[in-house]
Amino acid sequence: MILFQFLNPGDILNSLLHFIIGFVCGLVLAHFFNFVFLDMLIWAAVAGLTALIPDVDLPQSKATQILSFILLVLCFFISFNFFKNIIYQIAGGVVLFIIYKLLYHFFKPRHRGITHSFFAVGVVFIISLFVFNWPHLLFIPLGYFSHLLSDGVLKLI
Ligand SMILES: [Zn+2]
Repeated sequence: MILFQFLNPGDILNSLLHFIIGFVCGLVLAHFFNFVFLDMLIWAAVAGLTALIPDVDLPQSKATQILSFILLVLCFFISFNFFKNIIYQIAGGVVLFIIYKLLYHFFKPRHRGITHSFFAVGVVFIISLFVFNWPHLLFIPLGYFSHLLSDGVLKLI
């Protein structure tokens, strides 16, 4: 089982392209809302990174590798906040990450399936609604949607 593989020639251009397209969409939106320069870059990067997410249905995609890494950090972050004892903190992080890997292994959708759909954009939008405030909540759905557009894959579910 390869957890991280940062050099995958077939995928780099594709991921980079999705990032750039998401980034540019984010820049336009940030400009529209008159963000200051630094905020503009940060939120464009958020949109760019979000544009990688739909390809989590590819085990070897850059998105899957990056998300694996982010989730690894997140698992430990959650565990370190939940437990007081260092042993529990480490064990909790490992267990959470293993749960994620198992869930991914068993529930990974087929490529350009549900993660490349309006349904997924809707889910991402609803999550954004709870996490961010206006207008920041628009950047993640925008980045996500830019991926579907640039893939040329638009479907309901
Ligand atoms: Zn895709």
